[in-house]
Amino acid sequence: MSFIDQKLVKEVSQVKLSPDIGSGPFLSSPDMKGLVDYMKSGRCKRVIVMTGAGVSVAAGIPDFRTPGTGLYYNLQKYKLPSPEAIFTLDYFRRNPQPFFVLAKELYPGQYDGTKCHYFIRLLHEKGMLLRNYTQNIDTLELSTGIPEDLLVFAHGSYASASCIECKHPHSREWVQKEVFSDRIPKCEKCERGLVKPDIVFFGENLPDRFFDLAKTDFPKADLLIVMGTSLTVYPFAGLISKVGFNTPRVLINRDPVGAATPMMLMRGHLGFDFGGNQNTRDVPLLGDCQETVEQLVQLLGWEDDFKNLMNSSTFKKDASIPSPSSDSASAPSVSSSISKTEKSEAPKKTQ
Ligand SMILES: [Zn+2]
Repeated sequence: MSFIDQKLVKEVSQVKLSPDIGSGPFLSSPDMKGLVDYMKSGRCKRVIVMTGAGVSVAAGIPDFRTPGTGLYYNLQKYKLPSPEAIFTLDYFRRNPQPFFVLAKELYPGQYDGTKCHYFIRLLHEKGMLLRNYTQNIDTLELSTGIPEDLLVFAHGSYASASCIECKHPHSREWVQKEVFSDRIPKCEKCERGLVKPDIVFFGENLPDRFFDLAKTDFPKADLLIVMGTSLTVYPFAGLISKVGFNTPRVLINRDPVGAATPMMLMRGHLGFDFGGNQNTRDVPLLGDCQETVEQLVQLLGWEDDFKNLMNSSTFKKDASIPSPSSDSASAPSVSSSISKTEKSEAPKKTQ
């Protein structure tokens, strides 16, 4: 049942439709078949993909909130008030150690992308990817070979770092060296502030690049694919309402998140309208993200290209990063090489 008043939706929407995508509907039906037909029609050329943690789970990155894992155990001794405290500036100022323990384990360059990431790369190879907006800070997009200019790290990344007091920038290489030597990086300029990778902590502003590109990208998209995110964190979640009023929107996720609520409407956000009798564009593809992507690839007839892409992965584990499971007490120096078992943590390449 739909409780959306379409007239009200139009009034509160901030969306500026560009003339070429102002018509519709674009899907013969708001389901997998309608989506596949549309993607194969040649009319779908500017796809935006929004991604969250769900796309990275299969990469084997340890979840620090999962009891029983080494990472959870390592962090337990710090008696964090909550797992999220690691990502608050207040806590970081008082006790930066847990963040850097986590950062060391999760440093980019240790894991290959998943099928979801390779699907996004394939969209790019097909000339259809306008941009990938990600909430993730694991940079698996880069491991997968998605060009950096097509990526927006909405919640920042490890690519740069700065002092939390004087804001002086420090290079990624320098911070990485400090972290892997088990030193807390201190500002080389003011000599008192802590240096943290430019990952957005709770209460911090999102990068300018996020706002600048979102403004121009979303109105011109002709398809939005949302994968593996609970769509609860704003302003990221609000992006789904920034595409054209008839632009198809697909949710690939375990749960049917992002559905329209009166509260969202009040804030000018157009939630998904799955099952609504006026819905012509919102497609829920619920289930395991990796499996759904495989199915979509198959229906698109892209299996060979997908397989070739995954098999030709150029991902190499960053040789300057010690094995994640290495004992921190005897952490090797940053320049020492690691054993050549790069792909041991990578997802299995299925046939
Ligand atoms: Zn400083």
